[in-house]
Amino acid sequence: MADEKDRKTLEERNQMSDLERLRHSCAHVLATAISRIWPDAQFAAGPPVEGGFYYDVDLEHRISPADFDQIEAEMKKVVKENAPFERMVVSRDEAMVMAKSGRLASVADREVESIFKVDLLNDIPEDEEISIYKNGDFWDLCAGPHVGRTGNCKAHKLMSVASAFYKGDKDRQSLQRIYGTCFKNRTLLDEHLECLEEAKKRDHRRLGKEMGLFTFDESVGQGLPLWKPRGGIIRRELQDFITEELDKQGYFQVFTPHIGKLDLYRTSGHFPYYEDSQFPPVVERDALKKLADEGTPCSELLNKISIGEIEGFLLKPMNCPHHIKIFDSEHRSYRDLPVRLAEFGTVYRWEQSGELGGLTRVRSFTQDDAHLFCTPDQVGDEIQGCLGLVKKVLGTLGITEYGVRLSLRDPDSDKYVGDPEDWDKAEAALREAIQTLGVEYTEELGEAAFYGPKIDFVVKDVIGRDWQLGTVQVDYNLPKRFDLSYIGSDNAPHRPVMIHRAPFGSLERFVGLLIEHFEGKFPTWLAPEQVRVLPISEKFTTEAKALVKALADVGARVAIDNTGDKIGAKIRLARMDRVPYLAVIGAKEVEEHSVSVRQRDQGDLGSIPMNDFISKISQDITTRSL
Ligand SMILES: [Zn+2]
Ligand SMILES: [Zn+2]
Repeated sequence: MADEKDRKTLEERNQMSDLERLRHSCAHVLATAISRIWPDAQFAAGPPVEGGFYYDVDLEHRISPADFDQIEAEMKKVVKENAPFERMVVSRDEAMVMAKSGRLASVADREVESIFKVDLLNDIPEDEEISIYKNGDFWDLCAGPHVGRTGNCKAHKLMSVASAFYKGDKDRQSLQRIYGTCFKNRTLLDEHLECLEEAKKRDHRRLGKEMGLFTFDESVGQGLPLWKPRGGIIRRELQDFITEELDKQGYFQVFTPHIGKLDLYRTSGHFPYYEDSQFPPVVERDALKKLADEGTPCSELLNKISIGEIEGFLLKPMNCPHHIKIFDSEHRSYRDLPVRLAEFGTVYRWEQSGELGGLTRVRSFTQDDAHLFCTPDQVGDEIQGCLGLVKKVLGTLGITEYGVRLSLRDPDSDKYVGDPEDWDKAEAALREAIQTLGVEYTEELGEAAFYGPKIDFVVKDVIGRDWQLGTVQVDYNLPKRFDLSYIGSDNAPHRPVMIHRAPFGSLERFVGLLIEHFEGKFPTWLAPEQVRVLPISEKFTTEAKALVKALADVGARVAIDNTGDKIGAKIRLARMDRVPYLAVIGAKEVEEHSVSVRQRDQGDLGSIPMNDFISKISQDITTRSL
């Protein structure tokens, strides 16, 4: 594919899966159809992507989904013609002649040249073979590989159209990116479309709004989530649950400010190296005023901050340095270790605005963060503890399908800090800990950071999508940069090992995952509203209120629907709100001292004695049952 932003190497192209080949071939089918309908179309890149393919096109006509029927009808013809994809190797000059005569990514010669293909041709390294792929009249500059014939691309569908800059460069031309997908057969395509439909139904951005869980406000800022009361409940329940487990494991909770001095991050290495992904520094008023009086230009100001001539503060991009300073605030002996400091710490990252959306990519998020300071010998046990926590939390949430990735060092490289023997021990300990989990895991050689091996978690949700969660990272570097030490049993100072662990990543992302996983139907213990009491008419308000109070007394979140609506309407509304339990009270129930119970997922549970119902709810909550 000469038509990609980052050119693939020959080896990568040979490794293209059958599905990727098929999808890339379908991109050619799409381009064939478009150039038959709009011969002026200029094509740029058309690679396979996750879930399908796209082709970028420059065209005066604004393509919209309303055009898809016409384009797909033409694609159908191209498929039916069943032309072979023929590869033709040409010289650079020959290719240039074709591109200049508008013949590439087109069904005929044109008056204008194939502008993007001319440019892409110039990007091909001197020593690389240049090939043209032809299917019928459509010729394209392309390295391939392709499937045999256009007839293979039968099960396709156009999905959407968006705008994209040529070569992903915002200073270049804006193009129309047409997304499509293609599968080996109709059944697989239909399954995929159903899955997308399901994903749409579960989209946490939509459900979050509908259920009043969180909101974003332009005047607060893009990517800065505001948790509303109902979302706040879910977040707090999760935090409480995780905290309980951390307490059992001997962690101590700490609280630290949201900013820190630039010098702190110079020591840690977070500044200025990761400047681009951080909010700009906050500079003290006096320093700013002095510079303004001196007439210092902005560019100079930034430079002075970078080289440390002006001090300032940074919104914290990481919690580690603050926790390090807590560890370092006391003399530590080997008897004190491990020291486990946990914080639901909010951090700030400058994500590009184009990448923001919902809770999965935000500019301020709260990590389930903790830092463990231990001896090299304790690394294994500490990792084991971290994994135990993950297993417990995910298991309680009914998430049983997850995988683990273990990143190890490249044994042939010398870029790593720390003692090789410690690395060996840590890597073996990590592997051993993972094996006790009984889940799938992969080992990636050479993927470890220079400062230590790590573990990543990937969760599969109910509809089979992967969600990247957090990490457990061993670190030999920061203890050195901050010159941390403890006194060993030999009475000499030793360097502790640090473990960063935020296994669930951020609470924002994790709640986003849970919303989609449960489709908003949270288990009772997490549900913002757990029971809704529905009196059949106003006559039963007193009894209904008594039940509300009794439930609230056992710690349930309970509401009453006191409106004059018919009971059927009340039930429908409560179902829309995804309330796990509905308790209906009428004459019969009052007389029998019972409630008619409807469970969100199990349906009508019939009449249950009042006290039994109350203890059932209480039990559901305290045991965090699903
Ligand atoms: Zn191609
Ligand atoms: Zn950290």
